[in-house]
Amino acid sequence: MKDHVAIVTGASRGIGRAIALELASWGVKVVVNYQSSAAKAETVVGEIQAAGGTAMAIQADVTDQQAVETMVTQTLTEWGAIHILINNAGITRDNLFQRLKDEEWDDVIKADLTSAFLCTQAVLPAMRANSYGRIVSIASLAGLAGNVGQTNYAAAKMGLVGFSKAVAREVTADGIVVNVVAPGYIDTDFIDHIPQWLRTWALDVIPLKRFGKVEEVAPAVAFLASPAASYIIGHVLTIDGGWVMP
Ligand code: NDP
Repeated sequence: MKDHVAIVTGASRGIGRAIALELASWGVKVVVNYQSSAAKAETVVGEIQAAGGTAMAIQADVTDQQAVETMVTQTLTEWGAIHILINNAGITRDNLFQRLKDEEWDDVIKADLTSAFLCTQAVLPAMRANSYGRIVSIASLAGLAGNVGQTNYAAAKMGLVGFSKAVAREVTADGIVVNVVAPGYIDTDFIDHIPQWLRTWALDVIPLKRFGKVEEVAPAVAFLASPAASYIIGHVLTIDGGWVMP
């Protein structure tokens, strides 16, 4: 994938950081997108460069259409093409449904679903121009199976699956392949807040009896972002230690 260009949203930390490092190790030039963690994003860029790769950090709130368009323009100005988009940025605002506030619903739908709509729409013209593209969106097991306290997040992530399948049908003729990765619990800042009872229960029901590592997600994403994934369309790949086995 030498000289391919990727935008990885939310790459300053966690799963996005691991995907950025993995893609760079496959020879891809990587945009390390972030919202507010500038120092962490620059550290990821430094890690990639130290390993001989090419990367740049771009701040953009992926819920903001103007910011997304500016990020895409900046990428095209610097590197001339976009081959890969990883819709990874996401948040949670957990609450039991009967207590869920309007803003908790809206914030999660925007960050976990609308962001993918905005980023996908912004990169498609550049991908169509090359008759080539790979889009991988990071959903969640919570979207496939539901999860107590996560109606907003589950709706957004299942929405991301439907969105990806529908877009996949529209763009395959242009050489653009769209797929989804749905992780279970992966050890990042993201799951720091989950209550102890839920942690204990999850560790009991996951056949592997442990949470996943970011390094167990990133290579699968890189494969789906590679030319080799040419006949895998609209697939949802769970990476969950055997938790759901849909
Ligand atoms: P982290 O909380 O560790 O990292 C989130 C990343 O998203 C950060 O880089 C953050 O940027 C970025 N981000 C959040 N909102 C925005 C925004 N509006 N604009 C741009 N960037 C944004 O999360 P994870 O790495 O754990 O999760 C990554 C993805 O994987 C998410 O979509 C999540 O839903 C999904 N996932 C995670 C699971 C887990 O167990 N960890 C399980 C299933 C799915 P900044 O640092 O600047 O704030």
